Amino acid sequence: MIIRLDHIGIAVQNVNDALKFFEGALGMKLDHVALEEGGRTEVAFLPVGGTEVELVEPKDTDSGLAKFLAKRGEGIHHICFEVDDIDAALARLKEHGAQLIDETPRVNASGMQYAFIHPKSAHGVLIELYQKAKA
Ligand code: ZN
Repeated sequence: MIIRLDHIGIAVQNVNDALKFFEGALGMKLDHVALEEGGRTEVAFLPVGGTEVELVEPKDTDSGLAKFLAKRGEGIHHICFEVDDIDAALARLKEHGAQLIDETPRVNASGMQYAFIHPKSAHGVLIELYQKAKA
């Protein structure tokens, strides 16, 4: 079951430049900036109303994110929904014939499970599902 919109990922060329708009001009509050995926991306986290905007800058040239930026330019890259049971959510998607990027969830450093659904199956939107690590 989908619980909430966890974050919207926006692909940017440079996090610091993008913050001039999102923090400076728009007035969003920056929580923190971190290197993710073993240093392959730099992410600025801007929480708002129980969800978050994440500005994501690739630090390499061969990731999906870097290719997205080269081909499409800056813009919304993906949206992420929190689910209570990611295995059940992926099983349901398969039942409905959806194309998945991750057949089984990936696990990040903090034990959080996540998986991506291919935009071909989601009307052009890259969708990330994530489930909090069980306490
Ligand atoms: Zn994300």
